Amino acid sequence: MNEGTPRVADFDAVIVGAGFAGIYALYRLRAMGLTVRCLEAADDVGGTWYWNRYPGARCDVESMSYSYSFSPELEREWVWTERYASQGEILRYLQHVVDRFSLRPLIRFNTRLRQATLNESSGRWSLRTDTGEQLTARFVVMATGCLSEPRLPSIPGLQDFEGRIFQTSRWPREEIDFSGQRVGVIGTGSSGIQCIPLIAAQAKHLTVFQRTPNFSVPAHNRPLDPSARQELMDNYPPFRKALRESFTSLAPDAPLPSAMELSAQEREQRYGAAWKEGGIRLLFCVSDTIVSKPANDTLVSFLHERIREIVKDREVAERLLPKTHPLGTKRMCVDTDYYATFNRSNVTLVDLRATPVVGANRHSVRTRAAEFPLDSLVLATGFDAMTGALLAIDVRGRSGRRLADEWRNGPRTYLGVSVAGFPNLFMITGPGSPSVISNMVISIEQHVEFVAELIGTMRARGVDTVEAQAGAQEEWVAHVAAVASGTLFPQADSWYMGANIPGKPRVFLPYVGGVGPYRLKCQEVAMAGYAGFDFRS
Ligand code: FAD
Ligand code: NAP
Repeated sequence: MNEGTPRVADFDAVIVGAGFAGIYALYRLRAMGLTVRCLEAADDVGGTWYWNRYPGARCDVESMSYSYSFSPELEREWVWTERYASQGEILRYLQHVVDRFSLRPLIRFNTRLRQATLNESSGRWSLRTDTGEQLTARFVVMATGCLSEPRLPSIPGLQDFEGRIFQTSRWPREEIDFSGQRVGVIGTGSSGIQCIPLIAAQAKHLTVFQRTPNFSVPAHNRPLDPSARQELMDNYPPFRKALRESFTSLAPDAPLPSAMELSAQEREQRYGAAWKEGGIRLLFCVSDTIVSKPANDTLVSFLHERIREIVKDREVAERLLPKTHPLGTKRMCVDTDYYATFNRSNVTLVDLRATPVVGANRHSVRTRAAEFPLDSLVLATGFDAMTGALLAIDVRGRSGRRLADEWRNGPRTYLGVSVAGFPNLFMITGPGSPSVISNMVISIEQHVEFVAELIGTMRARGVDTVEAQAGAQEEWVAHVAAVASGTLFPQADSWYMGANIPGKPRVFLPYVGGVGPYRLKCQEVAMAGYAGFDFRS
């Protein structure tokens, strides 16, 4: 090699990202005897749970379901402490997994993949990172995350703001103390709703800048009861199986009544019990929340009443009522004391629909109606979901075709795992798969296992490349859209629809045909010799 020529390292597989998905992909592919390298932009593992360290960050799927099921030993030794684990506990869990299975040496940290180019003659991918490193790989596994590419607001003058600006999705490691400060939070999605109560308890004054009110339900988080936890740990396999095969992957399937079959009193009882229990299962306490507007309206009225009950100032309560989208068509939030926070005398709610933000200066954020002097500003403004992290990489497949061009009118995938024209490149929980509509650890494990088994089949058959067929992909894309159009989801301006990103095509991104049914579909594809995929030597 000439001096100055970068060394090119060759691997069977390169995995991009070291969150839940990348870690498991690394474990599985190494176990198959493949040479594997994982690239991670951060300086540690964890993905979502590395980056989102804001106060109050925790899962909204219960800890004992939101964890890996691939290793019985891991299941036995890791003891979750709370119903909904905190960011710190989930991060420690993922660090433990990586060290327990000796995966850390295979991960190159502080390394962002910038470009992936298919070399058609060799059938290998050439990869270039922001550190100048070059690699080649037969397989590329994009474990880049559905909610990992942050979205920031463009506020004129914000660059002049002299206070500190925090992003929930890039929260610093050190403890932030807001005591004595005037703090503003922009954004009232899940991240905003989790951090607002804790910041309010600390700050001198908190101004919440709300553009769209969201539905939120109480978490009723609590330490796990040791005997109930042990019982579940002793019965993990059947519990996990029931979740995997269920429609939602959040709880085992159970027969549910339609909201419209119930009397008003029966509905009230059922919704009241779910509210008391806490968590997103409220969405699934009747069968038709997400497919019937009249059914949905009954839950909306129920939640409006709860908000009016909690928030003492009538006018503030009215401003907090979500009225622009059906319940569940934007991700429902799970909170601790969110609505009650607006009873505090040090909290102001600003309705940005009535008075939009017009700019910022050295000391303040200004709306059309008023100026708000602030010491710190927290941006909880979300992500370029599902496609953002993938399209941030310059991916070029057959004939130099760019993924960004192929997806100009919205992502096109086969099963959310593969793209025609991009052989041997796989996405974990890509667009067109249940992903963000599910318990994501379950969906991640299913995709990693599908990819690992597909690679295993290729080795057994002695073939070099696998690629989605264009026809199968088109059928899948049409099916994903048809299923979504039978629901209320398209009625919301949500990130599920790409609506939070100006110019992003309005396409419903995840697959809502059910986690269990989707798994069955993938199994059928595999059993039919990977129907819809082409293999080549
Ligand atoms: P991520 O955890 O996002 O990891 C992707 C990794 O890829 C990141 O570390 C990123 O740095 C890296 N990366 C991206 N691009 C590149 C590149 N070009 N080069 C190198 N590295 C790259 N889901 C649930 O099911 N239940 C929950 O309770 C839940 N809570 C959540 C809470 C928050 C605050 C957020 C933001 C999301 C939550 N989610 C939840 C969704 C969550 O993202 C998934 O559950 C899961 O953690 C995703 O894992 P992942 O490995 O697919 O992606
Ligand atoms: P989000 O749901 O997209 O919320 C972003 C918020 O910022 C919205 O209220 C949005 O208003 C507002 N916003 C965006 N741009 C704005 C602008 N220019 N001016 C004013 N307001 C603006 O993002 P998120 O809260 O980070 O959550 C994203 C997803 O991550 C969640 O849906 C969930 O899947 C996951 N998550 C889960 C948890 C959990 O509880 N476990 C916690 C955090 C995140 P509009 O609605 O008007 O666009």
